[in-house]
Amino acid sequence: MKNNFIAIFALIISSCSSLPKKITNSECIFPTDNTYPGGLINYSLDSIKSEVGENLKLGDLIFATCKSDSQFIVLAPIPLSYKENKVQVTFSNKVVASIPLQNKAYRESRIEIQNKSLVNPPEVMQDRIKEEYIQGQKAKNILTRRGSKQVMMNKPLVGIISSEFGVRRFINNQPRNRHIGLDIAATEGTPVKVPLKGEVILEGNFFYKGNVIYLDHGDGLVSSYSHLKSKRVTLGQEVSEGDILGYVGSTGRVTGPHLHWEVFYLGIPINPEIFLKELY
Ligand SMILES: [Zn+2]
Repeated sequence: MKNNFIAIFALIISSCSSLPKKITNSECIFPTDNTYPGGLINYSLDSIKSEVGENLKLGDLIFATCKSDSQFIVLAPIPLSYKENKVQVTFSNKVVASIPLQNKAYRESRIEIQNKSLVNPPEVMQDRIKEEYIQGQKAKNILTRRGSKQVMMNKPLVGIISSEFGVRRFINNQPRNRHIGLDIAATEGTPVKVPLKGEVILEGNFFYKGNVIYLDHGDGLVSSYSHLKSKRVTLGQEVSEGDILGYVGSTGRVTGPHLHWEVFYLGIPINPEIFLKELY
């Protein structure tokens, strides 16, 4: 994983086409540094300018923009599974910066379920689950250029957080997948609104996620909305902040009505709270 991560960074910095036009700092509204697994590094390339000089160019993989002619902000996702205590920034195979990471203690959730058929999905569902997994993987890895300079999000709904991002889940003492979304509980039928403009790139009724919608916000930022009672948008639709995506429900594998909200950056799940203009 370490190598993969460094490769992402190297690609961001070294793949290129042309330098961006001058943009003032106030135009670039990005999340602040959250230097822990499940977070984001917000790194100014200004500090390595002397190392890379005129050779520094920005490529398709950058979800970033400049503060001035010569200073750039790079956002880099840190996977939940990342184990090292630092991230090294490389350029032309040379380490030009080392960013220390913090520890983040994610909560553990342990539940006991006696009925085995509730723990593991029935065999006849396996093909469907696999196909839906592939569709989700494809959606979260979409990378389109939009040149976004403002990526902070509004709350998708009014509600209370019922499960945080990153929770380590165990069922009958068996480790399950980490919780890579934020659960926001609300009354069934509560409107779920678009937190940041984007395009509907996937919608369906999935075994685990129930009624689900994926939005592409551009430049590697994708979000998804699960367990909806119903959907109000269609595939390919461009949506704006505040538009109603659908309504809170309990479709798919859930115990009660809530929104399971995921945010991906370059395909890596990031704590959605990092993008919120105002916290729950
Ligand atoms: Zn969830």
